Amino acid sequence: MDSYKKLLLANKAFVEEKLQVNPDYFTRQAASQTPEFMWIGCSDSRVPAEDITGTEPGELFVHRNIANLVIHTDFNMLSVLQYAVEVLKVRHVIVCGHYNCGGIRNAMTKHDFGLINKWLRHIKDIYRLYSRELDSIADLQQRMDKLVEINVTEQVHNLAETSIIQKAWHNENRPYIHGWVYDLRSGHLKETAMMKPGSKLEDIYTFEFEEDASGGKPWGWISPRAPLFGEDSRLRMIELPVKPVVFQRVNGLQALTRCRTGNRAPVERPPASGERVHHDRLLRVRGERGVGVRIAVEIR
Ligand SMILES: [Zn+2]
Repeated sequence: MDSYKKLLLANKAFVEEKLQVNPDYFTRQAASQTPEFMWIGCSDSRVPAEDITGTEPGELFVHRNIANLVIHTDFNMLSVLQYAVEVLKVRHVIVCGHYNCGGIRNAMTKHDFGLINKWLRHIKDIYRLYSRELDSIADLQQRMDKLVEINVTEQVHNLAETSIIQKAWHNENRPYIHGWVYDLRSGHLKETAMMKPGSKLEDIYTFEFEEDASGGKPWGWISPRAPLFGEDSRLRMIELPVKPVVFQRVNGLQALTRCRTGNRAPVERPPASGERVHHDRLLRVRGERGVGVRIAVEIR
């Protein structure tokens, strides 16, 4: 029998088995997915993500490539990541490497593999960064194992350095990023790295995000130290790069133009461009990106 037919037969058995346990198994599952985990694993056939984690269909959102790499120009991986984080809102992203990884082993050789040289190059770059530590390990197997572990940790950092992850940390305090290594020889998973939401990164990799109208934090401040608005010394001119949609009194100071939205503040409407806004000292403002407005603030 052609070997591939075995798979189609096995599929029939799989369907029957599932339906015997639960007649609604497939109809229920087809409706939607709400996985809690995203998995970035190696394409290696010996590391089936669901099997080794005991997860069911619907629990893992999976991306796999050779040596579980997170490359900043890989739109395949980045698209999966963005969808997982921003749409499915996963709580954990797991990078899982494994010992005896062919990608790691081959990257440590001088062989020319053609196109895949380009992919393995990323692993060679990691080797160069850690060459002192790796070269000091005499045993080749142990050196490969070490590079497998280092590679996973590097990919965890690569994830944290994406704006996708940093924005989710900033806005929603998730996801956790985990680095695991699967041991083919024992079947065990080993935790090698973990980054909590908001973990400090090297400055050069850190993004700053503007608050938007739904962000829940003030975008900026209106201050009486702003330049004068026309002849009247009590009026200050404020140029805002945003259209103010929320004004909020702070420290008991009064604003005559009232807050339009927001939970605590009285509701009226946002000031229009050129409109005078009375307030004593400080007014906190948050707005919509991309819509500028100019308002006058009266200091009393
Ligand atoms: Zn592998």
